[in-house]
Amino acid sequence: MLTYEQARRTVIENVVKAKGPRATADLNVWGALGFVLAEEIKTDREYPPFHRSTRDGYAVHAAEVAPGATLRCVAEIKAGDTVAHPLSPASCVQIMTGAAVPEGADAVVMIEHTARNGDSVRFDRPAQSGQNIVPRGSEALLGQAILRPGARLGYAELALAAQVGATQLRCAAKPRIAILSTGDEVVAIDQQPGEFQIRNSNSVSLAAQVRLAGGEPVLLGNAADRVDDLREKIARGLREEVLVLSGGVSMGKYDLVETVLKDLGAKFYFDAVAIRPGKPAVFGKCQDTFVFGLPGNPVSTMVTFELFVVPAIDLLSGAPARDLPLVDARLAAALNEKPGLTHFLPARVEWRGATPEVKSVPWQGSGDIAALAQANCFLVVPADRTQVQIGETMPILLRKDII
Ligand code: AMP
Ligand code: MG
Repeated sequence: MLTYEQARRTVIENVVKAKGPRATADLNVWGALGFVLAEEIKTDREYPPFHRSTRDGYAVHAAEVAPGATLRCVAEIKAGDTVAHPLSPASCVQIMTGAAVPEGADAVVMIEHTARNGDSVRFDRPAQSGQNIVPRGSEALLGQAILRPGARLGYAELALAAQVGATQLRCAAKPRIAILSTGDEVVAIDQQPGEFQIRNSNSVSLAAQVRLAGGEPVLLGNAADRVDDLREKIARGLREEVLVLSGGVSMGKYDLVETVLKDLGAKFYFDAVAIRPGKPAVFGKCQDTFVFGLPGNPVSTMVTFELFVVPAIDLLSGAPARDLPLVDARLAAALNEKPGLTHFLPARVEWRGATPEVKSVPWQGSGDIAALAQANCFLVVPADRTQVQIGETMPILLRKDII
């Protein structure tokens, strides 16, 4: 059985192998959050475009400033002002943050280190050449590529594009991810379940996870645990690049997903992973569609999506596969888990001191959605660890959607 790292690598290798050119769309910068850039963005001028003051204070010749020195203030420069005149000797210019430093001046002295009396400015300490000035072109040169194809557009990347006037951005089309839940017991969320039925919460979490990962969910509803219904709905899913199924991949008599996929020509790259929850997770290719069969217990579905489906969506979005957001945390409560499988336990991490502290959330197993809604991470307990003591360091997998 593959470890979760091996299973992830299997997904990444197979999706990379199959990756072709992607459709693109031109998006306005206001609407491009979460998309992946499909073009290079270059600067339209140098950045900063002028020698920029980073402080409110006085632009000076550094060599003229010493403790007790006084200089005559001859002008004032606000951000946005045109600066035409060089700084003359034995004088200074009052300058604001973001304003252009006049030619000749090589330092800005913070206003806090000066005393003003009429036109006369007195300095209380020496100045170093270059202080509080960002030189023209030091952030980027004219025509320099500042964003490249494959860049994920977050708020900083969008601001950078906006800064250089790139208001329309060519982005990769989001991969369409079909979502199909399975199970005779599952009813649509707007229906009243019978006593022994449950609402289709998995389609809701999967659609949310698809969106967060950068994909476009295509909702196919639920298939009954019958070959004909599964076949018909899976065939519909095979029209998309990726099909994610929930349920029907365990060893039960009515777990028919693998059988139906096989009948439709699927080959499987793995059909179990050494993790709990989520062990029966399946990954393969059916016709030209990547297929993930995720176990139906809601927490299993969520964990296996994060581990295995997210990297596929990353790659199909035109971006590199992101690493898992694993960080070390200090255990605030002891643990006792069965060996053999890597456990992903719903847990809560808090940043009270320098080291994050984590505690698993009490739960009733992989059907317990309420526990995961109390959690902000998964505590990752390696397969060879059974007893883990308070104070030990353990990796946690962050729930990036809420942290
Ligand atoms: P399965 O993997 O098909 O054996 O499903 C395991 C359990 O997960 C079922 O017994 C249900 O309790 C639950 N489950 C399956 N599908 C869903 C779904 N779409 N939404 C919520 N829970 C589900
Ligand atoms: Mg089922």
